[in-house]
Amino acid sequence: MTARQTLTPNIDPKALARSLSGFNLIDGQLVPASSSDTFAVCNPATGLEIARVPASGRSEVDQAVRAAVRAQVDWAAMPARKRGNLVGECARLLAAHVEELGRLVALETGKALRTESRVEASIVADALQFYGGVASELKGESVPFSPEMLTITTREPIGVVGVIIPWNAPMMLMALKIAPALVAGNCVVVKSAEEAPLAVLRVCQILNQLLPAGVLNIVSGFGPECGGPLVAHPAVGKITFTGSVETGRIVARAAGEKLIPATLELGGKSPMIVMHDADLDKAVAGAIAGMRFTRQGQSCTAASRIFVHESLHDEFVAKVKAKVDLMKMGDPLDEATDIGTIISRAQYDKVCGYIEHGKAASGAEPVECSALPGDAALRDGLFVRPVIFTGLSNESRLAREEIFGPVTCVIKFSNYEDALAAANDSDYGLAATIWTTNLKTALDASRRLQAGFVQINQNIVVQPGLSYGGVKQSGLGREASLEAMLDHFTHKKTVIFNMQ
Ligand code: ADP
Repeated sequence: MTARQTLTPNIDPKALARSLSGFNLIDGQLVPASSSDTFAVCNPATGLEIARVPASGRSEVDQAVRAAVRAQVDWAAMPARKRGNLVGECARLLAAHVEELGRLVALETGKALRTESRVEASIVADALQFYGGVASELKGESVPFSPEMLTITTREPIGVVGVIIPWNAPMMLMALKIAPALVAGNCVVVKSAEEAPLAVLRVCQILNQLLPAGVLNIVSGFGPECGGPLVAHPAVGKITFTGSVETGRIVARAAGEKLIPATLELGGKSPMIVMHDADLDKAVAGAIAGMRFTRQGQSCTAASRIFVHESLHDEFVAKVKAKVDLMKMGDPLDEATDIGTIISRAQYDKVCGYIEHGKAASGAEPVECSALPGDAALRDGLFVRPVIFTGLSNESRLAREEIFGPVTCVIKFSNYEDALAAANDSDYGLAATIWTTNLKTALDASRRLQAGFVQINQNIVVQPGLSYGGVKQSGLGREASLEAMLDHFTHKKTVIFNMQ
């Protein structure tokens, strides 16, 4: 397939942000906002505006969905492996843009380039590569129903898929949705998050060099005004959403009204259990990685409740603090920076509110780590020092509610059964880890922890190929795996051929 245009990587994120300002991407083209209704995208490290994007509403959503409907017939008719190859080609194309995408997402989200943003950009290509490679797994079964009848099942695309994403890992979460949707033969309309609409727009622009026009569209806008019409649009046959529990309920209700399927990846309050026999240094490194301190704790799977055996508790806290103290908070685009900023003023106020609440709670001992940047250019930046709270119970607000900030509760325990019960005593059930050298404990906990993603002696993020999703209030459905593509982006059709 010939490229419609060839994009040159642009590693100046401010210039790239300006060049994307004011556009949606519909039917293969960057399309200006249909009205003058735009909103600002700001650099959270300085507070300065870097671009304006369309505040799209019903009419832009309708335009994008119509383009997707037009493209879907030919896209679905393309042999699955050809679609897969095309998506694999897209991954190769993206590989050349990892640096610019990392820089752009660092600029708009405040996530540090070296520790987070560049890593996120490379996962996007990885997700496309993975799904491109499993296209031929879109197969059905033959059913031994009757010797006179050939009975088979086939996998059919759903049609047009609406994708609603949040701001914390916008490119990665979009890729884990659009790649399986596209490979399965669906066309897609993405609604980006208000706070982080630029890097995802750029990803879609890059992919549109290879994908037929209308197969992948993206619009920016606010939740109720833009996301709402996308869910409600009569031609959208499936919604896949990542965001808060409250919005997830709104989306699920609207999908229910239309009787269309919805995959929901919602919040988490993920427990980490450190047993008396754990390798302490590995557990300390795992806590720092698990808390996603380099992402300012803005992760659904953040290890925000850490249950530590009383024999290790004090040493564990001291060691985590010593290591986090060495992490440098600063300009997200600086290679030396480990920890960047919170995404927005609203989120900053929310996180600071939780920290104040925690400090006022009886028995709380907050351990503040690292240091705020001294650079005058960053004085308006939304930096928050990571805080480890000890002395709080699993019943405290900080241990029950999702904070989405660099705040964790370390809770002492003396007995495995109590730790397990407390870990499961949560409305959420997304991820969990246990740290132990005892095989029996590890296997027992992996069976009994109420979470969709359980790890033993490690704490890595979602990986293409592994099913990811939650139980309880953490959501419905699974993402990132082959089954996710089959179960969530296709309909199974039964075909019976009577041979008599
Ligand atoms: P967060 O609090 O992390 O921003 P939200 O759940 O509010 O999480 O947002 C996640 C995504 O859902 C964003 O793209 C947002 O614009 C979108 N959204 C918010 N409200 C609605 C809604 N009523 N209908 C559809 N999408 C929405």
